[in-house]
Amino acid sequence: MSSLSGELQLIHSEILECTKCELHKSRTNAVPGEGPYDAKIMFVGEGPGQNEDEQGRPFVGAAGKFLTELLESIGLKRSDVFITNIVKCRPPNNRAPRKSEIEACNPYLQSQIRLINPRILCALGTPAINTLIGDEYSASRFHGKPLTKGEITTLPMYHPAAALYDASLKETLLHDFKILKQLLDKEKTHSPSTPKIAERSGTKQTLEKWV
Ligand code: SF4
Repeated sequence: MSSLSGELQLIHSEILECTKCELHKSRTNAVPGEGPYDAKIMFVGEGPGQNEDEQGRPFVGAAGKFLTELLESIGLKRSDVFITNIVKCRPPNNRAPRKSEIEACNPYLQSQIRLINPRILCALGTPAINTLIGDEYSASRFHGKPLTKGEITTLPMYHPAAALYDASLKETLLHDFKILKQLLDKEKTHSPSTPKIAERSGTKQTLEKWV
């Protein structure tokens, strides 16, 4: 049974019927995302793969299994977090989503973020990082470095699927999930002090050091 709020359910219904970009033509199922409507942590990946397309659920393949392990490594369950992607329909042959497709789908993602209002947004992989915080960021350079804008902290990470191809990234992801745990603990205790080590000129965003 869904715990999503009515408005979120409405948006998810729209996604299931959406034809705003070419990806609707080849999908089996659109994959809006799932999790509690009031989740403190939201994960945003790149797009559905074959398993996700078949089941209509996010992160249900091998990468999803690893994501569950990563969550358990810091004492969280999959059902504690909201999980979605920057595009809700599977790109054919798992190609990268095109900019036009990401832009067409972005209003859905922004509505999900607005309604769920998470404290921490985990951007999984460079396409999700680019979509959430800008094209100048990448997983390789900014993974594990939280970026706070307003009340939401975005934590860039490698996509769990990357660790399936490069085993060395497994440790990197485990390490970055420890940073996620620190962010969550800080959120719970409402600690006011966060050391700011860099500030991007021209924006209100601040890069914060947690390690
Ligand atoms: S990817 Fe997004 S914009 Fe494109 S058809 Fe699917 S739901 Fe609509």
